[in-house]
Amino acid sequence: MARYVIGVDLGGTNVRAAVVDRQGAIAGEPVQQPSRAQEGFPSTLEAIAQTIEQAIQSAGVARSDLGAIGLAVPGHIDSVRGVVRWAPNFGEWREGLFYEWREVPLGEAVQQRLGIPVRMGNDANLAALGEYYYGSGRGHAKGLVMLTLGTGIGGGVVLTREQVQGSAHWQGGALLVGASGGAGELGHTIIALNGPRCGCGATGCVESLAKRDAIIERAREKIRREPNSLLAQLCAGDPARITPRLVAEACEQGDPLAREIWEETGFYIGVAVACFVNIFNPEVVAIGGQIAKAGEVLFDAIRRAARDYAIPTLLEMCRIVPAERIEDAGILGGAALAWQAVQEG
Ligand SMILES: [Zn+2]
Repeated sequence: MARYVIGVDLGGTNVRAAVVDRQGAIAGEPVQQPSRAQEGFPSTLEAIAQTIEQAIQSAGVARSDLGAIGLAVPGHIDSVRGVVRWAPNFGEWREGLFYEWREVPLGEAVQQRLGIPVRMGNDANLAALGEYYYGSGRGHAKGLVMLTLGTGIGGGVVLTREQVQGSAHWQGGALLVGASGGAGELGHTIIALNGPRCGCGATGCVESLAKRDAIIERAREKIRREPNSLLAQLCAGDPARITPRLVAEACEQGDPLAREIWEETGFYIGVAVACFVNIFNPEVVAIGGQIAKAGEVLFDAIRRAARDYAIPTLLEMCRIVPAERIEDAGILGGAALAWQAVQEG
């Protein structure tokens, strides 16, 4: 039986990889290099292969101990065929036009290159699977829904057989992927019909109200009205210097304006969480991504809105918590998927 798998987090800027054991511990160090996302498929494949080789070296394990590779990819992934249906961050420039990845057989290409079985999934979906097994899901929570806050808002849903009738032989957590691999787009839950236009084309998605740029815009509007606030001082009056991290700093130092920003942001996220609680009745809702580090003010607001909008008896047993594995979410998600592949043989 394999002792390790490899988790790979393919991003638009970097590709990261690490060797991971059955308990979710990383052997050696995670390694990374530029993913060369806009230089065409062969370049990105080369970057992925090199990063995996370096991760194996860093861990100092034998190739025969490696059971599978799990690839976390931002895009619409057909995990059954190992094909990237669409990934807008990847592609190549030809005569001034950018051609995005469509129908790219990435899984098979990596498998042929390295001689190790490859599984692939959407990065936000897999972050939920990793958090289920190695974080707040403890590997046995009765259902986990995860949101990843960042440039956009990603999501994933993990269910166990207790949540699904008629599946007696199903062990552990299973990721909801839908009919064509696209399920779990929780960031596009519409919570305000008259809200701002979202990148997906709809209006009022939770992503359009709580993504990184929406938080920054909220902060800019507020400091325009209150130029003497601590947040305004911290950015030296320059709205271009505002980041979610700066808002968190101001909030920690007691700035009421910064507090308001997290309370409003948390309200929107909490309304979306109420929808997930009503649909999935999960034991855990985990909030990940760097923005989740804003801390208790944000989480109090999320829990308050969830309490006001979710069906009370469904919310009763639900823990709404910061994700425990924020830093290596993609790697661990890939690893969790790879372990499932090893177990299925
Ligand atoms: Zn949307």
